[in-house]
Amino acid sequence: MREKKIHYKDINVFITCSLCNGYLIDAATIPECLHTFCKTCIAAYLENDEEDNTRCPKCDSVIDHVNPWRVLVFDRTLQSIAYKLVPHLYKEEIERQIAYYKERDLSYPPSLVEKLQEKRDEEEQQIIPANSDLHIYDDQVAICIDTKTKDLQPLPRKFIICSSNATVTHLKKLLAKMIFQDPCQYRKIDIYLDEQILGKDHTMRFISLTKWRHKMPPICLTYGIASD
Ligand SMILES: [Zn+2]
Ligand SMILES: [Zn+2]
Repeated sequence: MREKKIHYKDINVFITCSLCNGYLIDAATIPECLHTFCKTCIAAYLENDEEDNTRCPKCDSVIDHVNPWRVLVFDRTLQSIAYKLVPHLYKEEIERQIAYYKERDLSYPPSLVEKLQEKRDEEEQQIIPANSDLHIYDDQVAICIDTKTKDLQPLPRKFIICSSNATVTHLKKLLAKMIFQDPCQYRKIDIYLDEQILGKDHTMRFISLTKWRHKMPPICLTYGIASD
């Protein structure tokens, strides 16, 4: 299935409050015309005696009620869409509410802090999805790798930064890709530290902690055609 890209400019109109021109917060809808505003924006409008506060600020529909404030409908669906579409909107709103209480030396509802923590946890999970194979957040190690006997061509770049969880096999696959343009041929390559062939399952962390312990990075390795 082809993904369809949607631009913010096309959807902004649906999640923006025309009273404050910001994204909707606590979306409240006028049932007569279905126009939606932030709760605090429409409340301020309706409570302002100088305005004709019996009409929708957008379309002028008469809000036909003795107490218009009571007929507003809180649109949770639209609000959750706005929160989903606009990064940080929800978090910033909770932070703003907490700041409001703090500035006035009021004790704030503990649910606010819980909401904020939930949101932060959610964001962390999004950055590193469960069961992800990404290693970009691992500790990194610097490696300098050169051809040992010149039986294999030198690399265009000798310096590599990789995850400390990368194994010797990963490194061989990278070399095979650069040398043979085919990572599947990695068994043709051996990697050495000094004169010693490195075991295929050793991680770069292990090598750095055992065989390169008292030396400065990068770890200097060489490679050559596998002996068998
Ligand atoms: Zn507003
Ligand atoms: Zn309206």
